[in-house]
Amino acid sequence: MTPEEFHAYALAAADPDGRLPLARMTGWDISPFEQDGLRTNPLRPPVLPEPARHGEDPADCSSCRNRDAGLWLNENWRLTRVGGVGVPLVLMLHSRDHYDFEDLPDELAAEFGLLSARIARHVKALPGITRSHVYRISDGGAHLHVWFFARPEGQGQLFGSWLVIWDDLLPEYPADLADADAETVVDALIASHGGHRPTS
Ligand SMILES: [Zn+2]
Repeated sequence: MTPEEFHAYALAAADPDGRLPLARMTGWDISPFEQDGLRTNPLRPPVLPEPARHGEDPADCSSCRNRDAGLWLNENWRLTRVGGVGVPLVLMLHSRDHYDFEDLPDELAAEFGLLSARIARHVKALPGITRSHVYRISDGGAHLHVWFFARPEGQGQLFGSWLVIWDDLLPEYPADLADADAETVVDALIASHGGHRPTS
């Protein structure tokens, strides 16, 4: 479908205001929202061409400016902790050079596979953590960045694709505890993959 055809197709399922029915996910018993009183926003028409993402031009890319910053680095990659979140730990893996995921050279893509599995393994091994969700979305920033979300053990509502919404509802997790967990992951990553903490 063209963008216009897709919009028209979706609107055929919407009410006269362009509001689609509630998501099936809101009917799950782990939904953070009750369906009563909830309604969708009208579906907007497509905007073409799409607005540029942050860092589409490497000269304006904040990730390129911070290529030497992070909790952990090696020649190709760096790892940071995302603050202000509700789950116990969110880490972000960035390529040090300016690539989007689809443009990664094979050698870096191969290392990404190993590295992301190792980071997820080390996050999952933290006390009180039962899963490491891994997300690459790339709608906001052009420079490759991959999210690792630690799911707290036993909180079965913080499940699957609802986790990021619950994360936004929860109070901010204590930064000192998140810092300590991040350092544990860095120690394990240096042991499994090499690399180092920042030198300056
Ligand atoms: Zn960049």
